[in-house]
Amino acid sequence: MQLDNVHKAPWNFMWIDGQKVKSANSFEVRNPATGEVIGWVPKGGEAETTQAIEAAARAFPKWSKLPAKERAHYLQDWADRILLHQQELAHLLTLEQGKPFAESMGEIAGAADFIRWYAEEGKRAYGELIPPSRTAQRILVMRQPVGVAGLITPWNFPAAMVTRKAAPALAAGCTVVLKPAKQTPQIAIALFQHLMDTGIPEGTANLVTGDAAAIGDTLLTDPRIRKISFTGSTEVGKKLMRQAADQVKRLSLELGGNAPVIVFPDADLEKAVDAIIDNKFENCGQVCNGINAIYAHIEILEQLSKKIAERVQQLKVGNGTVPGVQVGPLIDEAARQKVEALVAEAVEKGARVLTGGHRLEAGQFQDGTFYAPTVLDRVTRQMAIAHEEIFGPVAPILSFATEEEVLSYSNATPYGLAAYVFTRDVGRVFRMSEGLEFGMVAVNGTSLSVPQAPFGGIKESGTGREGGHHGLEEYLEYKYVALTLD
Ligand code: ADP
Repeated sequence: MQLDNVHKAPWNFMWIDGQKVKSANSFEVRNPATGEVIGWVPKGGEAETTQAIEAAARAFPKWSKLPAKERAHYLQDWADRILLHQQELAHLLTLEQGKPFAESMGEIAGAADFIRWYAEEGKRAYGELIPPSRTAQRILVMRQPVGVAGLITPWNFPAAMVTRKAAPALAAGCTVVLKPAKQTPQIAIALFQHLMDTGIPEGTANLVTGDAAAIGDTLLTDPRIRKISFTGSTEVGKKLMRQAADQVKRLSLELGGNAPVIVFPDADLEKAVDAIIDNKFENCGQVCNGINAIYAHIEILEQLSKKIAERVQQLKVGNGTVPGVQVGPLIDEAARQKVEALVAEAVEKGARVLTGGHRLEAGQFQDGTFYAPTVLDRVTRQMAIAHEEIFGPVAPILSFATEEEVLSYSNATPYGLAAYVFTRDVGRVFRMSEGLEFGMVAVNGTSLSVPQAPFGGIKESGTGREGGHHGLEEYLEYKYVALTLD
């Protein structure tokens, strides 16, 4: 394997109609761990997006009519090629996004896993034959692909989000136009290289990079785009929802979250701490279903805080390419400033810093956007950090006394993506799972994303699901055919 060559690969083109397309202007991509420029990517806009939509619309009739089994061949081949190049792709992902190499390896494997699962699930888009009301009547329900899908992906899981959207869309028979985030476009371009290498028909999958608003507006106003799937901020998600209304486009939105983890005294505290650290510090805390507030029952508050702080002090921070590093940099300076401001406000209002609480700027950290893994206790609900999405390596600890109280604290947010509960009381498991107003609840664990389960949120965390047979539905329409026998 030639890791040295990976970041030098010129991922400086878009994919339109099966061709590599450059543009007159480009924008730079930086490594957040070093500040180095690692690539230049085309600054596409309305014209390129329109070309991509045209290509996808031309490819749709043929692709949508292929038997699912044949679409699955391309998808399986795509997954195989990704896994064959797992290390190079993971290296590129770490350079561009900052996450530790081991996490990048996991993300690439997960990205391939999604493709494999949907290659199979696409074969199960069954129709129905419904019992009639009259002798000569037949009621059929077909499920057909919605059409060309516009896919907009974020920078925090820039490989997994590409396949989590493209795989179900392509498996369902849709053709796609994908726009990756400006911070992490190269990994998406590289993944598409492997898709093109399968020989997938031209125009089936297109990718445009550049001006987010121009590309977004074109996707939202072109009537040939029948579906938008977006993962990103609630603010942009709301804008897209408003725009989609004009043409009543189908929408899947996976937006911000504010996940509580609730630890009861009967929980296995060692296991809870492990799971909390795994979730909270994955990807430097930049995970949409990442823990935002730790609610510790008053009986175990001191004990839990101490254990968490001890573990966090041991986390190894650094450039994700260095073996053993567990926490990389934040994606950019704006993200670091946001984290800093939230911590400052909390401390001013009385939170106590158990560890961390500052940026890292000396020595190996000087050119990157690093922030020390942080644990705060004595956090109260009056502090912004308890209810705003942190998206950084900061664990705020709050306390509670009763189930009712912690349920009301947890639900008092416009978000509703994920919640976590640690308890061994089966009655409490049900009361909490039923009472928490979130799209996903994990009990005695903090990991959620697998291809076969419906990942997604309620309230302002979004609409629609990714994963599972539910995720395929997002790209299918029902057609009811009423047939009268002659
Ligand atoms: P984050 O806060 O995680 O960066 P964003 O919502 O800004 O989230 O970005 C998520 C994705 O949405 C990215 O691909 C970004 O380029 C894209 N995006 C940002 N603004 C717009 C817009 N006005 N229209 C369409 N897509 C947009």
